[in-house]
Amino acid sequence: YLGRLGGLSSFIYVLGKGLCEIATMSVQVLAAEMAEVELKDVPSKELTPESHLTTKADDKEIVESEPKAVATSASTPTMEPIVKTGDPSPGFLIPNTKMPQASAMKRTDPQQNGGEAFVNRDGTVAEAPRLKKIQFADQKQEFNKRPTKIGRRSLSRSISQSSTDSYGSAASYTDSSDDETSPRDKQQKNSKGNGDFCIKNIKQADFGRREIEIAEQEMPALMALRKRAQGEKPLAGAKVVGCTHITAQTAVLMETLSALGAQCRWAACNIYSTQNEVAAALAEGGFSVFAWKGESEDDFWWCIDRCVNLEGWQPNMILDDGGDLTHWIYKKYPNMFKKIKGIVEESVTGVHRLYQLSKAGKLCVPAMNVNDSVTKQKFDNLYCCRESILDGLKRTTDVMFGGKQVVVCGYGEVGKGCCAALKAMGSIVYVTEIDPICALQACMDGFRLVKLNEVIRQVDIVITCTGNKNVVVREYLDRMKNGCIVCNMGHSNTEIDVASLRTPELTWERVRSQVDHVIWPDGKRIVLLAEGRLLNLSCSTVPTFVLSITATTQALALIELYNAPEGRYKQDVYLLPKKMDEYVASLHLPTFDAHLTELSDEQAKYLGLNKNGPFKPNYYR
Ligand code: NAD
Repeated sequence: YLGRLGGLSSFIYVLGKGLCEIATMSVQVLAAEMAEVELKDVPSKELTPESHLTTKADDKEIVESEPKAVATSASTPTMEPIVKTGDPSPGFLIPNTKMPQASAMKRTDPQQNGGEAFVNRDGTVAEAPRLKKIQFADQKQEFNKRPTKIGRRSLSRSISQSSTDSYGSAASYTDSSDDETSPRDKQQKNSKGNGDFCIKNIKQADFGRREIEIAEQEMPALMALRKRAQGEKPLAGAKVVGCTHITAQTAVLMETLSALGAQCRWAACNIYSTQNEVAAALAEGGFSVFAWKGESEDDFWWCIDRCVNLEGWQPNMILDDGGDLTHWIYKKYPNMFKKIKGIVEESVTGVHRLYQLSKAGKLCVPAMNVNDSVTKQKFDNLYCCRESILDGLKRTTDVMFGGKQVVVCGYGEVGKGCCAALKAMGSIVYVTEIDPICALQACMDGFRLVKLNEVIRQVDIVITCTGNKNVVVREYLDRMKNGCIVCNMGHSNTEIDVASLRTPELTWERVRSQVDHVIWPDGKRIVLLAEGRLLNLSCSTVPTFVLSITATTQALALIELYNAPEGRYKQDVYLLPKKMDEYVASLHLPTFDAHLTELSDEQAKYLGLNKNGPFKPNYYR
């Protein structure tokens, strides 16, 4: 009886406490809503770009500050339509409403403080290996350590992390590996007699053209830009020098830039990723391309130099992926920056270098950080990985996913994509996290949050996607069960401690390309994929549609920087404004026959928004 009475009084106590908490929460929610309305109720005002991100140098983290609303003044440059088409929706390329300019993003360089952190794509700072300083062709002793043909990559990463680690591409099916002659020793001309290119084999152009045409089907926004550009050439006079992966998707971007009026010269940002037939198609189409699959380190810099160093031609825009091209120009041709209007950079690594330059006061032109655009992060990281994780695993191991126990380390964008795909295939998915917010998201998405050591003995597949280092260490590898598959989806090959497996008692057996069996003395073996490098980019393809979103963002960033009036952008690193992110997204909607709801005047007023956007503040992620 007493027990029941006690139970009843506890129940009443809990009920009362709960009601109090609900009341407190309601007040807080109300307060938050009021604050939001207050913020939104200033339609004629803009957010100060600098206020969106401030840095906390000592903590090595980036903190989002409250946005400051300030009245627009003449001194605050706003983005005007560059090409007016009379289109009431966003202008041709740039939205036609008054809007904030791209915001300068201030960041601390965490590497100054010990070198064990880097800025993630989402603007957070994560533990990471120290990025190697860029080195140049004249630093021969480093280059000589590296292989000169396709093959196992040297452990030395002197060249540039991104040149070997970033995107791989669709396998080149016309790879003429039997042809041993270096492209540098060949004299080739296209059918019009133009020889200003250096590629593997111009005869592969027809195959490449088909690849490009296939990619065009999945790149609707770039095709839409081309259509809209028929009357107007927002890049007329632009001389773009580019250094990206040379794939069918890049070819669609280059041909779009050309349709918009630009002249392009291009080199590869990765020594393995060039699709030779695509490079051939581009050369046949009149583009000056200097790239082939399996370049040596020396070739890599030679190609970049050939792009830049041409008598009578000087670039005025840079499109870079990894920062190598930018730094080459800095080192070898600094005077070129007098005519260069801006840099557009896509990668984590390249953006990091730009911030370093900016911090040192050495950035001499404005730069656009495409990497941190919402349209890059929210699509590339999440959907790209959701679509490609299974492909990478299947191609390498033929594993069946249904009923398999999988642990995914890290529940950020990449982790979320991997987990969703595996869950849909019927796998039992565990998640490890260090951040309680992402951990809670994992729980609420229906995944078991565990510590790695709790499940390491029982899981069939281990996937890392933390951007961190030493997440899977030797101790865990020792405890895995026979046949466990181990792979990484994060940027660097530091998440799995692969080096710890190179000990005399363990035997390595290469069973397929990119697949190693590591065998313990008792016969247990684990299946290590791509030696711990990015699985999807090493062993599968990535969806063209996702690349279309990123490529469109790059094209818009180029147009914006090229057309911006003097003084709009200073020598700093900028983010594209939200409005442009929204525009990129809107260009992709017709593919899905999606019908977007329009705000009524009354609703727009109520929310304090312009009917044409931007619909979210710049800091929204
Ligand atoms: P993110 O920062 O959103 O997510 C990483 C998560 O890992 C975070 O939530 C963090 O709390 C967690 N984490 C960090 N250390 C951990 C640890 N020791 N154990 C468990 N969890 C830990 O980043 P993201 O966008 O998901 O990207 C993750 C990595 O994938 C990055 O290196 C990124 O460059 C790379 N990436 C890969 C692809 C691809 O195609 N494979 C695409 C985009 C990004």
